[in-house]
Amino acid sequence: AKFWVMTKHFDGFPKNSDFELKVEELPEPTDGEVLLEAVFLSVDPYMRVIQSKNPAFPVGSHVVSDSGWRTHTISNGTGLTPILPEWPKDVSLSLALGAIGMPGLTAVYGIEDVLGLKEGETLLVNAAAGAVGSVVGQIAKIKGCKVVGSTGSDAKVVFLKELGFDEAFNYKTVGSLEEALRKASPEGYDCLFENVGGSFATVALEQMKNCGRIAVCGSISTYNDSTPQTGPYPYFTMIIKELKMEGFMQSSRQHKHPETLKRLLAWVKEGKLQCREHVTKGFENMPAAFMGMMQGENIGKAVVAV
Ligand code: NDP
Repeated sequence: AKFWVMTKHFDGFPKNSDFELKVEELPEPTDGEVLLEAVFLSVDPYMRVIQSKNPAFPVGSHVVSDSGWRTHTISNGTGLTPILPEWPKDVSLSLALGAIGMPGLTAVYGIEDVLGLKEGETLLVNAAAGAVGSVVGQIAKIKGCKVVGSTGSDAKVVFLKELGFDEAFNYKTVGSLEEALRKASPEGYDCLFENVGGSFATVALEQMKNCGRIAVCGSISTYNDSTPQTGPYPYFTMIIKELKMEGFMQSSRQHKHPETLKRLLAWVKEGKLQCREHVTKGFENMPAAFMGMMQGENIGKAVVAV
């Protein structure tokens, strides 16, 4: 098996020298165990079973597994999630890492459980062309909402318009973020699906409508900070506007995953949910794919085809 290890904690933006590729011999699986082979890898790898001494996972089964950046893994079955049995042959299995997987689940829970998004409302989402953001915007359209997306390139703006976003802008070239947000929705925003954090969040808060809701999903603009940010959100705005802000983790809603994955698959089959992927070929390119994603090279979900 080949596997990647992190040789030291990132100091600022990740570097090639922070990663090391290693090789190890795996033993034969014993009773109850299976040998997994990675087909597509993400932060949460997707595998197929190539040897099995566990009747729950016959050879050839496809499962999602949190086994690290590895080509092969021996597993006793704990934590392996089989893909939906009704998975159609013409839907790429890699979507089990994207729209019909963890990022899709995150989008649904943020919209339904945290924001309680209602028909006719206006939603703002940032990192909008990414794995989570692109699903968020499309589900908000399915629910009959106005959707505004912020993203980091003109090509991504075009992509968001193709997905049906009402308004989209490139935050890197827009000049004043405040003006861009106001222009996209002069009446303000009922809901904010927050993936970016930092100064974006501070500016966006001022554009919320009274009693607006904010789902705090991620804070990618701060992940590589060497020192934690200290500046507070503009709390006074939250008081005056009576805003509600709630962080959430998709992983705390495991019991809802099967039913939610079925709904996501149905939307894909009905053509209501389009899925773009940014596929990097080759296990050796895992660090490059990871760093590229952090720098915004991906449109849609970033995956590595092993
Ligand atoms: P994406 O596919 O959206 O990829 C990351 C994107 O973030 C990049 O393409 C880039 O797009 C954008 N980005 C990177 N740096 C910055 C920056 N400084 N400012 C603004 N945008 C930036 O990733 P995911 O969809 O997988 O994740 C999106 C967010 O959701 C992350 O914050 C992640 O941590 C979070 N998350 C939370 C979960 C939960 O349970 N709460 C579960 C899964 C993800 P651009 O070109 O637009 O800049």
